Amino acid sequence: MSLKLLNSAYLMNIVACETEDCYSQLIADLKHHSYQYYVLDAPEISDRQYDELFQKLLITEAKHPGWVVKDSPSTRVGDQPLSHFESVTHRVAMYSLDNAFNNEDMSDFYQRIADRFSDDAFVFSAEPKMDGLAINLRYEQGYFVQATTRGDGKVGENVTQNVKTIQSIPLKLQGDHFPDVLEVRGEVFMLKSTFEKLNQQQLDKGEKPFANPRNAAAGTLRQLDSKVVAQRHLSFYVYGWGEVSDNWTLPKKYSDMMHLFEQWTLPINPHASLVEGIEGMSDYYERLLQLRPTLPYEIDGIVYKLNDISLQTQLGFTARAPRWAIARKFPAEEVWTELLDIDVQVGRTGAITPVARLQPVNVGGVMVSNATLHNMDEIQRKDVRIGDTVIVRRAGDVIPEVVGPVLSKRPDNTVLFHMPEHCPECGSEIVKEPDKAVYLCSGGLYCPAQRKRALEHFVSRKAMDIQGLGTRLIDQLVEKELVHHPDDLYRLDTETIAGLERMATKSAQNVVDSIQGSLFTTFGRFIYSLGIPEVGEVTANNLAQHFKTYDALLSASVDEFILVDDVGEVVANHLEHFFQQPHNLEVIQGLFDAGVDWPEPQEIVVQQNSPFMNKVVVITGTLESMGRTDAKNLLEAAGAKVTGSISVKTDFLLAGEKAGSKLTKAESLGITILNEQQWLEMMPEL
Ligand code: NAD
Repeated sequence: MSLKLLNSAYLMNIVACETEDCYSQLIADLKHHSYQYYVLDAPEISDRQYDELFQKLLITEAKHPGWVVKDSPSTRVGDQPLSHFESVTHRVAMYSLDNAFNNEDMSDFYQRIADRFSDDAFVFSAEPKMDGLAINLRYEQGYFVQATTRGDGKVGENVTQNVKTIQSIPLKLQGDHFPDVLEVRGEVFMLKSTFEKLNQQQLDKGEKPFANPRNAAAGTLRQLDSKVVAQRHLSFYVYGWGEVSDNWTLPKKYSDMMHLFEQWTLPINPHASLVEGIEGMSDYYERLLQLRPTLPYEIDGIVYKLNDISLQTQLGFTARAPRWAIARKFPAEEVWTELLDIDVQVGRTGAITPVARLQPVNVGGVMVSNATLHNMDEIQRKDVRIGDTVIVRRAGDVIPEVVGPVLSKRPDNTVLFHMPEHCPECGSEIVKEPDKAVYLCSGGLYCPAQRKRALEHFVSRKAMDIQGLGTRLIDQLVEKELVHHPDDLYRLDTETIAGLERMATKSAQNVVDSIQGSLFTTFGRFIYSLGIPEVGEVTANNLAQHFKTYDALLSASVDEFILVDDVGEVVANHLEHFFQQPHNLEVIQGLFDAGVDWPEPQEIVVQQNSPFMNKVVVITGTLESMGRTDAKNLLEAAGAKVTGSISVKTDFLLAGEKAGSKLTKAESLGITILNEQQWLEMMPEL
């Protein structure tokens, strides 16, 4: 048994089969998965799980050579081609690659070569291992004549028509001195951006999305209609060759052959580089690992190839892979695991995010037991259910996410997720914004998850304008449990604040003065400081002008909120939900108890003898000369009662520009409709 096998298997905690039955079952499993993956493009296990089964096979065969069957997956490449494409026998076999999963595997690979040639300085071509599928392109007299998939390495599928649609593949080689017959080999792949778009289109059409760009590329290349292939924009890089005319002399180095390919306008990967010795290989690995998230395509590792072609020839091939090359795999970024449950998390803004609780799994070298599901729409769109096997992805430093369920593994007893009605942190109602995917906790003032943000907002300049209470101080006050809600601020004393980091008695006194100085404010600032979703400074002032008192604001309905300038249905709903939460009201009462106050509104002197005296008026649309709130104030001063919705009791509808359903309803009820001009003419001098 080679050391290489022992190393990887040891690290992956893999043990050999101890019975021949176990070995036979393992072979049956690998054959099944290989067929699903290569032939149907529908894998049922993750690549990592497959790699583990494959390692188990290798160590079992090394331990029990007598059991090895002739058609073992360890002796073959890929799987048989699909029947609906013409089969083509490769003139020069297409191989797979041996894998290295860690530094020890790499050292073993290097050492085997060093032992063979009694030398220890070798140059390798190091290249990103593209995650696509291998293709053989045949050129005769410089003209592209045929493209074949790898298939089982001996026989592939004729996909010439489809490959012709790949723009980066030249139909005629440029330059000269190329061999009469030249087979180039490379990887067909799909850019990440193309993949995203394709999957969106699949979903829009109600079709199944592809699991990853490799599957999408493989599935696309096997399309029977090459027009579909053309629309999906596949890409290609060359990395090797097959048959080359006998009368043409190969260069001495692999890298020189790549340069010739480049001159003949075949695309080569710009990140390919020559590296020396085991250190050079290791440096390149680190570099590529960093670069990986920024690349526009998926790579699953690095391929190192001895650069000296005569050494390659001397080393030759095993039944399935060259001895002069190795694929150093990256830690898998995409793995499969079980979705145990879905919880919700409350963000600083009150946004509720569903979080997947997973059977812990190693993704890209990190153990992951939670992953984001983004929002409710995503869960429904992807049809993710509790109990599913899900694909989990973590690219670079990105938060792990659930890509989607593996439908072929769905058990019967999966459970659909429903958004809870109450916030898990504070028990307030969870509300959905109409037409948006976001769910929000409506306990903004009280919810512990939103505490810091609520306080930062409360003290900000346009709100209560409390100077000297910055983010750092708020963090400390919350973390030391000195402040839970904004009303607690008014109970802080100098001594407590002076005890915090970076605070002295003088600065603490200034903060306390500033807090106390904020008590007498304006109604508008007060409303703004509550941090109600979508209620900015302007809306808060409009609300203050419109309702004049806190009691009027508190008892208003959605219909009445909508009357206020700038307030639409979404904001009106947020207002209603906010003031329905008992916890929010408790905090507001706490603020009043602490002494928060503002000037009394001016009394409206009602004008007698006005045509609007005791009349019910509704305002709709956009007025040219003033906002709706000003119009309401004027009407009220003229003795009118301004309401939000049309009914048989309505006397007048004041309709501005772009009036909608209210105008239609008023017309149908025969209510007197006034345009802005008519209304102004009727108004008494105020
Ligand atoms: P491979 O993908 O591990 O490596 C060989 C292939 O690498 C070549 O055929 C070529 O297509 C590609 N490649 C990319 N860049 C290259 C470069 N610069 N130079 C040379 N080759 C390059 O081997 P494979 O036999 O195609 O597939 C085996 C892998 O497929 C397994 O490791 C496993 O991860 C996956 N697999 C998964 C399942 C499953 O059920 N999930 C089943 C079978 C195989």
